[in-house]
Amino acid sequence: MSRIFNFSAGPSTLPEAVLKQAQEEMLDWRGTGMSVMEMSHRGKQFMSIAQELMQDLRDLMQIPESHKIALLQGGATAQFSFIPQNILGDENKACYVNTGAWSKKAIKDGGRFCDVTVVADAKDSNYTTIPDVADWEQVADAGYLHYTSNETIHGVEFQDIPDVGDLPLVADMSSNILSRPVDVSRFGLIYAGTQKNMGPAGVTVVIVREDLLGRTRDSVPPVFNYQQQIDNDSMLNTPATYNWYLVGLVLKWLKQQGGIAAMETINRRKADKLYQAIDQSSLYSNPVDKAYRSRMNIPFVLADSSLDQEFLALAEQNGLSSLKGHRSVGGMRASIYNAMPEAGVDALIDFMQEFERTH
Ligand SMILES: *Cc1c(COP(=O)(O)O)cnc(C)c1O
Repeated sequence: MSRIFNFSAGPSTLPEAVLKQAQEEMLDWRGTGMSVMEMSHRGKQFMSIAQELMQDLRDLMQIPESHKIALLQGGATAQFSFIPQNILGDENKACYVNTGAWSKKAIKDGGRFCDVTVVADAKDSNYTTIPDVADWEQVADAGYLHYTSNETIHGVEFQDIPDVGDLPLVADMSSNILSRPVDVSRFGLIYAGTQKNMGPAGVTVVIVREDLLGRTRDSVPPVFNYQQQIDNDSMLNTPATYNWYLVGLVLKWLKQQGGIAAMETINRRKADKLYQAIDQSSLYSNPVDKAYRSRMNIPFVLADSSLDQEFLALAEQNGLSSLKGHRSVGGMRASIYNAMPEAGVDALIDFMQEFERTH
């Protein structure tokens, strides 16, 4: 058996060491004679897995005491609807920044539960840049400002946390959480599905500032009530236990790599060399403003799109999988999350250069 380099946007590649450990522990977790999948979520073994996961996440992201963690289901998509219903309280207004496909979905779903003002919109640039924060519209009495820190489809990433004064900042970090250090204290709420950069699909992380809790509308189902879930250690109902375990293994792996600052150095190096290869070629191009290029998802197009199919087929033959771009933007996309080894990026660059030479 040999493993390929998988550039899928999500679910995405996992660290091989994590998969191996899960394999080794599959039938018998640490002498218990059972798989983590088979354990009671109330038992002391699983409780220790859950506690370590929460602590490791807190350590890695340096989450201050003021911020609580909930692990939920329903993906980031469920949170598009449940964020306004949980944190707006009596207010009914929220600000959103539209920087691409995922912002658009958050705006559409959020708009069913509050009055949304799109305070900045990158649509006119075809989502290749981010409007300057100084030009964002100011809205009186808004309950929060939502933005997507990395647009997984368009390959656009905020390089800094926008300064929006006292307005609670809400960020969808699904595709760049844990890829670089962020100052969590500056956020009202951070959320992310796990299947991009944290593990398999099935867990959604919500990190929320204490003062935004306790405002949930009565109509919200208890499993999506942040306060109730946090009060119950995210075990108001049976959690996705095996997925929690796998996320926990990924967090331990990140600690072994030296933590988030060390990952950032590697991620920067991987992205820089791939962008450099794209910019230096005459066959490939990336349309995104250099100031906002994503380090996680790198879309690129071929000058002659009639070569796309051949590019993808040959890449696949060379062990480079899932490079097809999202249907809404076409072309190619290389997702190079934490778990993509630098050797995978090197192999992709070699392949791209060879393909250009022979076409
Ligand atoms: C993948 C993704 C989502 C959707 O996640 P689901 O788990 O499918 O709900 C939302 N936002 C961003 C930025 C994503 O990359």
